Amino acid sequence: TERTLAIIKPDGVSGNHTNSVKETILDHGFKIKEESFIQLDEDHVKSFYAEHSSRSFFPSLVEYMTSGPVLIMVLEKGNAVADWRALIGPTDPLKAKVTHPHSVRAICGLNLQNNCVHGSDSHQSASREISFFFKTTPSG
Ligand code: ATP
Repeated sequence: TERTLAIIKPDGVSGNHTNSVKETILDHGFKIKEESFIQLDEDHVKSFYAEHSSRSFFPSLVEYMTSGPVLIMVLEKGNAVADWRALIGPTDPLKAKVTHPHSVRAICGLNLQNNCVHGSDSHQSASREISFFFKTTPSG
């Protein structure tokens, strides 16, 4: 089995998508190994999204991700990283609605920034992101 990090972002939580997203996760055979409902601060987000720090949308991304509580989860199943990315769909919900209408972002996302959920994009990212929040090993 494999682990990945999922986040229900502030728009997902405030839009009351938490329960339906968790149902979708469980329906697709993932186990939720850890979960934590937290308010991110600026330092968390700047560190978590450090790879995007030079992008023009970065200040807005930081404001968005600190705008309310998020639900952080460690998901486990075979091929968890790729399968969770496939389930959430493309980054932009407006494109997802056209190309992947049953994806989480198509159903719950609002726009390119406010896209409801996060998923680690590689094993290396999963490992980094899980230890960022939970201080455990990715296969643990
Ligand atoms: P995530 O890492 O959150 O799963 P992703 O890998 O699909 O998303 P990234 O390119 O890593 O997308 O961007 C990280 C996040 O930054 C996006 O999920 C979105 O919230 C925001 N974002 C990305 N591109 C833009 C943009 N051009 N304008 C505004 N916000 C953006």
